Amino acid sequence: MKKVYLDNASTTQIRPEVLETMTDVLANEYGNPSSTHSLGRQAKSVLELSRKSIAKALHCTAPEIIFTSCGTEANNWILRSAVKDLKIDHIITSKIEHHAVLHTVLALQKEYGIQVDYVALKPNGTIDKTDLVALLSQEKKTLVSLMHLNNETGTLLDIAGVAVICKEHNALFHSDTVQSIGKMGLNLELVSVDFIVASAHKFHGPKGIGFAFVRKNSGLQPLFYGGEQEKGLRAGTEPVHQIAGMAKALTISYANLEEETTLISGLKQYCIEQLQLHFLDIKINGADAFNTILNVQLPFSEDKTAMLLFHLDMKGIAVSRGSACQSGSSKPSHVLAEILSDADLKKPSLRISFSHYNTKADIDWLVESLKTM
Ligand code: PLP
Repeated sequence: MKKVYLDNASTTQIRPEVLETMTDVLANEYGNPSSTHSLGRQAKSVLELSRKSIAKALHCTAPEIIFTSCGTEANNWILRSAVKDLKIDHIITSKIEHHAVLHTVLALQKEYGIQVDYVALKPNGTIDKTDLVALLSQEKKTLVSLMHLNNETGTLLDIAGVAVICKEHNALFHSDTVQSIGKMGLNLELVSVDFIVASAHKFHGPKGIGFAFVRKNSGLQPLFYGGEQEKGLRAGTEPVHQIAGMAKALTISYANLEEETTLISGLKQYCIEQLQLHFLDIKINGADAFNTILNVQLPFSEDKTAMLLFHLDMKGIAVSRGSACQSGSSKPSHVLAEILSDADLKKPSLRISFSHYNTKADIDWLVESLKTM
């Protein structure tokens, strides 16, 4: 059966060039980067060249890139150390963040008694900057944590604008950029965000590797203790093949950015047109979403909601209803719950997420399959 993969916000297919780099490093650069002999030094060199290429792509310095096991770890580290070590006693975030942020903030609130405020959202899912400014006017040591690109709706944050607001109010700014890194450019020389995080498997790299950008002199302390790797900020022997694969994936993503963005935008537009042509009453959740994600409400009865993913899976189509970590759950998405009316929330919503590996034929098959629901 033909497989159609339209779940690229959950994870992406690895690029063949990345696989090639990784197997080469795994086979040949097997030294421990902390060892002083030549094999160790060679592995260290792969590690540092990878760090440099990531830093170059994001316009920051290499020491500001710290490798972690994933985006979740990087978010946890930054938020926890901000409270524990930088003495942040107020976090402003939003109810539509990924659980890697939301659950961490709740845990920190419980453990440290910090004040947590959730910024108001506009009906289209974007944050209300006036409310953010009002929340920032309190005399507290504050960190703002707002995601760049929402993983369920594709709604974008004006990251540069929010960075300016945070600076004006002396607040630290952390942005979960897991969905945007590799899909759009980000110039960290121009955008004064303090911390961002990324995850390689979202941009056609391997799973189990990510990084944090931590602006120079941040004062962050490690989450756990061990060796001196990553300047003592992240102990544990570095997975050199994963890191080299991540750097390769990011380099290729940015080299092909224009071409692949055009292709993906065209596919999303085609998908919207086809859905509108074949179904009355399609509603898009989250206005002006970025090209990689389309979250649509389908005009099906409530009883069909439970069957939707199963039906599509039987047709060989991989899509999702919310974030992958929740798609096995029958609970409505916490993101859609914030922006939809109760009536709309009961209708089946589908998150279709694209990559350059998709074709119009994939979308035709999706639409055909939905018609037989
Ligand atoms: N943040 C966002 C916005 C995500 O979409 C995800 C992955 O679904 C994560 C964080 C977690 O990343 P990782 O899978 O690398 O832990």
